[in-house]
Amino acid sequence: MTGHSTTVVIGAGHAGLAASHFLTERSIDHVVLERGEVANSWRRERWDSLRLLTPNWQSRLPGLPYEGPDSGGYMTVAEVTELIERFAKVSRAPVRTGVDVTSVRHVGEHSSGAGEGGAGGGFRVTTSEGEIHCRTLVIASGACNKPTVPAFAASVPASVQQLTPFTYRSPGQLPDGGVLVVGASATGVQLAAEIQRSGRPVTLSVGEHVRLPRTYRGRDVLWWMDASGVWDQRYDEVDDLTRARRLPSPQLVGTPDRATLDLNALAGLGVELVGRWAAVRDGHALFSGGLRNVFSLADLKMNRLLGTFDEWAAVPGRNASGRSGARADGLGPPERFEPTVVPTSARWQLDLHGGEIRSVVWATGFRPDYGWLDVPVIDEKGHLRHDGGVVTGSPGLYALGLPVLRRRKSTFIYGIEDDAREVIDHLAAYLAGRPRR
Ligand SMILES: Cc1cc2nc3c(=O)[nH]c(=O)nc-3n(C[C@H](O)[C@H](O)[C@H](O)COP(=O)(O)OP(=O)(O)OC[C@H]3O[C@@H](n4cnc5c(N)ncnc54)[C@H](O)[C@@H]3O)c2cc1C
Repeated sequence: MTGHSTTVVIGAGHAGLAASHFLTERSIDHVVLERGEVANSWRRERWDSLRLLTPNWQSRLPGLPYEGPDSGGYMTVAEVTELIERFAKVSRAPVRTGVDVTSVRHVGEHSSGAGEGGAGGGFRVTTSEGEIHCRTLVIASGACNKPTVPAFAASVPASVQQLTPFTYRSPGQLPDGGVLVVGASATGVQLAAEIQRSGRPVTLSVGEHVRLPRTYRGRDVLWWMDASGVWDQRYDEVDDLTRARRLPSPQLVGTPDRATLDLNALAGLGVELVGRWAAVRDGHALFSGGLRNVFSLADLKMNRLLGTFDEWAAVPGRNASGRSGARADGLGPPERFEPTVVPTSARWQLDLHGGEIRSVVWATGFRPDYGWLDVPVIDEKGHLRHDGGVVTGSPGLYALGLPVLRRRKSTFIYGIEDDAREVIDHLAAYLAGRPRR
């Protein structure tokens, strides 16, 4: 594979395919390069029982609204994979699967062929199947390419099996006995509940987290996020953008009974709560104290958010319909939930040699992998430097699918449409020689 394409898109997840949809709409010649198959991360990097935490009406993509019978339900991994495959077909995305991008360089950087990518320089994309030159490039390779695991994981005794959400599929894979789940965001609380229910006693290590009820005043909490405009908040309106981009995912699970899965629910199942895992010393896991503060901060933030929803609903006229067009009448009265119950004596340490803990599941977040990007646009923390998806210091380079890229909803499936449209608008203006700020 050698040649030239005006635009190369890296990744055929929903973000890369949305970029392709808008490039096609603008008749910009492009190719989508995918190292695996369409929707690869959903096929290879998710556990068996996972369902989306976003309701079905939010599983919509440009030109492809949800039209199934259960708009309030939550898709399984197989259903999400099918949705993204259908999107690729309907939008006739020019995807080349099985093509691993191994390097992206500015044209001219390591060759004398300045300008060979066309007017304005461009990029040389080296892949497992050959080379392509392009003037513009969209990085849609995902925000969750690798699980984040702290360095002290290397000091966990070899007798304790360690897994990440990429290697965990179901509880049957774990040895009998105690499981230490680390991290209490969406992944951690979901895995803790599933493993506890399998009969393996779970200890959950809890750090900073985002508590949310599944439903509020009779509506899905994500309906409120959408209707009140919280998820539409733009990146340039967010007070502390760096913090917003690192915020953990909310404690939510998508189950047919719409159950809330917060720490009180987990404690009710018998899960033991301990503080943030800070270190391993002499074969002991050491946990931070201060659970009370961590819990009250999460409770406070949740109540503040619920207060925002109440204020929104109290404005006359708003009660007619939400932004999504869903009816907002018939809401229940404002609710407040029981504070997170602090355990009477949370343990500060656990002997990892003692046999009580047989496995550790790290649910400590994910990060992108830009090992193939040979353009100096990555900061010291490994994040891409960009302004709303327009990569800083490298004209013609764009990104999609990163946290709060242009809005709070950017990494969610239904958040891609607005972001992709605007990023491709910018790219088109750049190609036309009318670069925007
Ligand atoms: C556990 C989990 C649960 C989630 N739950 C929800 C949810 O409930 N609702 C929701 O809306 N969102 C959810 N998300 C967030 C988001 O929708 C997914 O992360 C989604 O997969 C991101 O789409 P994407 O297109 O940006 O990236 P990806 O789906 O990761 O796609 C990127 C693609 O790029 C390819 N790629 C990467 N590097 C290269 C390379 N060098 N060369 C060629 N190809 C490459 C990968 O193979 C992959 O197919 C969840 C995410 C995770 C991790």
